[in-house]
Amino acid sequence: MNSHPAPLKFPRKSTLKGPATVIMLYKLCLIGYGAAHMLLAGYVLANHLVHPREILIIDPHHDGGALLRDWPHVVSNTTYQQFLDALTLLGIPHPNCQYDPAAPTELQCLAHALRETIRTLLGPTVSRAYGYVSKLEKTGEQPWKITAGKQSFTATTVSLAIGATPRALPTQTPQIPLHCAFSRKSLATYLSPADTLTVFGASHSGALIVQAAVQSGCDVNLVYNTPQPFYFADEGAYDGVKLETAVLARQILADGLGGKVRLIPYSDALAVHSALIKSSWCVSACGFELTHYPQVFVDGRAIHTESSLPYNPATGIIHPRLYGWGIGFPSTTTLEGRTYVDVSIPSFAAHIYAQRAQLAADLSS
Ligand SMILES: Cc1cc2nc3c(=O)[nH]c(=O)nc-3n(C[C@H](O)[C@H](O)[C@H](O)COP(=O)(O)OP(=O)(O)OC[C@H]3O[C@@H](n4cnc5c(N)ncnc54)[C@H](O)[C@@H]3O)c2cc1C
Repeated sequence: MNSHPAPLKFPRKSTLKGPATVIMLYKLCLIGYGAAHMLLAGYVLANHLVHPREILIIDPHHDGGALLRDWPHVVSNTTYQQFLDALTLLGIPHPNCQYDPAAPTELQCLAHALRETIRTLLGPTVSRAYGYVSKLEKTGEQPWKITAGKQSFTATTVSLAIGATPRALPTQTPQIPLHCAFSRKSLATYLSPADTLTVFGASHSGALIVQAAVQSGCDVNLVYNTPQPFYFADEGAYDGVKLETAVLARQILADGLGGKVRLIPYSDALAVHSALIKSSWCVSACGFELTHYPQVFVDGRAIHTESSLPYNPATGIIHPRLYGWGIGFPSTTTLEGRTYVDVSIPSFAAHIYAQRAQLAADLSS
């Protein structure tokens, strides 16, 4: 027998004549439904912090987010076992998929596996709304008011995991969208074999894009903005390239994939300039930024700014009872004076787990 009460209901005066309309007061509203919020939903449900009836999820698609929509065929930089370990940490049951635990999978496999597992936990009673949240408002001790298009909702705790946009560089050379740059097939929409492509960013994504462009017959300029072009996890680098991508990165360093790849330090402005002049296209694979976030007002005062929605990376808290997670609001790690953003399923899981006491407190009252 379930001890969770049904969600509270708010009597609200209707502007029309007739009985008062009733709107639901949810305990937890998840805005965005990608990897980070699937993990959070799995955590709060598997640990009985909320009942599915008390959760509202708002997302334009409910498809599993960018892993499925934008990067389905990109090979993961984590093994399948690391994904399962992230679920174990949060107490989420493992999916029934049969993949080699020691190998990485395509990202769509992780998105499908996560979606299926969490779908079982959510059951049929969870509420879903489709659309983009544009505004959050809180007045005094009242719950959050959430606006998505013409709809509005209320919830006592709200969580944002709305993804992020690949950072664009101010180049004169046109840029291929990042999600079109990982495969020969989608690159062929933009490039012909005689073309030269400039890729900004020597990391997991950059190496995979270089490989796809060389396989398409193109020459590639790879621009790196660090003291050396690649860092390797097996040499102890935090956030270094790993698994198959480390093999590829070493091939790029060894012979430029048969002389097709030229490595250029970003600090060499003349070389970057001349690379761009000779390139028909470029790709920016150098980080992400939060762009389409909701406006947030507390007691009538905006807590968002024109360029950001400030949050505490150590706690995930934007405001009491308003959290931010995932690639849009990542935790950070500082080592030897350098700060890294922690963007992966294992790091999202670790961040959620670290905030379990605060989550439990917010969801119990
Ligand atoms: C190229 C690439 C490769 C990666 N590879 C790996 C990997 O190998 N392994 C790994 O663990 N991680 C990987 N990551 C990191 C991370 O797991 C993904 O970025 C993941 O998609 C982030 O999940 P998210 O939930 O933060 O955002 P998303 O998956 O982007 O989900 C956000 C959701 O919010 C919705 N949304 C946006 N705005 C609103 C709004 N206002 N209202 C309602 N909904 C909204 C979006 O439509 C989307 O559905 C990779 C990332 C990238 C970019």
